[in-house]
Amino acid sequence: MTSQIVKNRLKAFKNQAGRCYYCESIMWLDKKEDFAADHKIGISEAEKLKCTAEHLIARCDGGKNNQSNIVAACLLCNSERHRLRQPPAPTQYRELIKKRLKKGNWHPKSLLLRVSQHV
Ligand SMILES: [Zn+2]
Repeated sequence: MTSQIVKNRLKAFKNQAGRCYYCESIMWLDKKEDFAADHKIGISEAEKLKCTAEHLIARCDGGKNNQSNIVAACLLCNSERHRLRQPPAPTQYRELIKKRLKKGNWHPKSLLLRVSQHV
């Protein structure tokens, strides 16, 4: 079912204008090096902005790979959500990220400023 998830990730990426569902940073689909160069950021910073498919309802809770359950999220948001012992609901997690962003406790502010200049 990999192809379905890739297709839906791509659709979600387009629907969200290339922005992360949670932190609203811009993301890249491939060509990490180009993205890093375009935004004058390091490769390791760029890695965290990789577009990943996020299941709103986790697969272990019966979530499917269909479009309504897939959003595009950056690697940082996606991996951190699943690192929590009890992953919060997507809306709760979104609020959490917004608070962290305000405190400068997520993607470095300098990075967000640079990437948002291009929009
Ligand atoms: Zn994000």
